[in-house]
Amino acid sequence: MVRLLVIVLLAFFLYRVVRRALGSISAPRREPDGVIDEMVQDPQCKTYIPKRDARRKVIDGAEHYFCSRECEEKFIAESKED
Ligand SMILES: [Zn+2]
Repeated sequence: MVRLLVIVLLAFFLYRVVRRALGSISAPRREPDGVIDEMVQDPQCKTYIPKRDARRKVIDGAEHYFCSRECEEKFIAESKED
């Protein structure tokens, strides 16, 4: 009876390891809870950054995401010139 329990636990452990390995290959950015790490583009330097790492800024009612404070300030300065 104890042996069966050990086998079941081992099978479950293996299943989790295999699932995690397969998951990391097919979707490296997919979180365990199913949340996808969305990529956003910095309008200043055109770099793509993960949304959660980006600096969010609302300018004239439009959302913008920046990789750094420098880009944010440059973008605001340039948008004011228009
Ligand atoms: Zn940038």
